[in-house]
Amino acid sequence: MQTSQAFIPFARPDTGEDEIEAVARVLRSGWLSTGPETRAFETEFAEFLGGDLHAIAVNSATAALHLALEAIGIGPGDEVIAPTLTFTATVEVARYLGADAVLVDVDPVTLNMDPARIEAAITPRTKAILPVHYSGLACDMDAIFAIAKRHDIQVIEDAAHALPSTYKGRTIGQLGSAASAFSFYANKTMTTAEGGMIVTRDADLAARMRVMRLHGISRDVFDRFHSTTPGWYYEIIAPGFKYNMPDISGALGRVQLRRLPGFLARRQQMAARYLKELSGLPLILPADAPAGEKHAWHMFVLRLSDAAKRSRDEVIQALSDAGIGTSVHYLPLHRQPYWRDRYGLRPEQFPVADLAYQRMLSIPLYTAMSDDDQARVIAALHQILG
Ligand SMILES: *Cc1c(COP(=O)(O)O)cnc(C)c1O
Repeated sequence: MQTSQAFIPFARPDTGEDEIEAVARVLRSGWLSTGPETRAFETEFAEFLGGDLHAIAVNSATAALHLALEAIGIGPGDEVIAPTLTFTATVEVARYLGADAVLVDVDPVTLNMDPARIEAAITPRTKAILPVHYSGLACDMDAIFAIAKRHDIQVIEDAAHALPSTYKGRTIGQLGSAASAFSFYANKTMTTAEGGMIVTRDADLAARMRVMRLHGISRDVFDRFHSTTPGWYYEIIAPGFKYNMPDISGALGRVQLRRLPGFLARRQQMAARYLKELSGLPLILPADAPAGEKHAWHMFVLRLSDAAKRSRDEVIQALSDAGIGTSVHYLPLHRQPYWRDRYGLRPEQFPVADLAYQRMLSIPLYTAMSDDDQARVIAALHQILG
């Protein structure tokens, strides 16, 4: 087919001269680790989400989730409920703390965790629900909060895909869960190379997460070198972690955050084009957000319908032959050896996610992609499936 044309990768970060300049400024400043840039990034991020939030920058969303679960007191013997259709980071953090993950199936339309399955999975050991706003489409949060309230358990949102998304007019991060974790990994909707942010409205949780982010030190390093008490003095009040975000990443994040509204507009435009121009093919196209709501469109996940004449793997191969990268989000956790074997999980327990997995592929959708690139992806899919 079009193998003479340049390969269209599945994802590619959108970083330009402003990002290079920001990183160079930090390199020239003499302060590379957590400092003024990361501080400013935290403030600007909280403002971006609408303010009235504590935002704590860390070196990954995995770290953010770990800090949140630790801060709400998750420990050995506890259970947290999460969807099977997610990245392992959502639940591996429960294992760090000696707690167990209880995986549940997803809704066939949204591919977000199914509230009815959450309710059925609750036990006396359940301490938290971990909704994942899959691909950037907000979960049914009213139903999830109602279950959490009824059973007196916490909600920690895995918002790695949901920057920025809204639910009933409110930005994800502002819904009142204990905490929400965002990712700035290289392929997310904005990047700091590696990085994450945990946000909460709860001052006590924020204080605990700040301390645990850096070794359980009662003041962070920058404070130590910029306040009037002796610089060498600090106190360890807990066995904390090493999860702080360096200023190189913070500076990168500040530039990306300023560009985020433009990134979102471009993603929305590309998603609308895919939805329009792929209709009519034997595909289940991803659900859009309800009218007036923001879908972050971190990913564009197709599912082959019953009418498709080729398998998912054949479609992936044909797209690859046409010079187009794809991915699968995700091999569900119930099929991952560690989770499968630890909890004795079988595909029949997760019929929706399992069928979705067998039929799904994610196609390129990122701001560094041109209209012509997108036209090639659309044309290739028509040729393969039409
Ligand atoms: C990317 C991702 C994470 C982890 O983010 P990192 O910043 O790489 O730690 C967690 N959950 C989901 C759903 C993700 O997609």
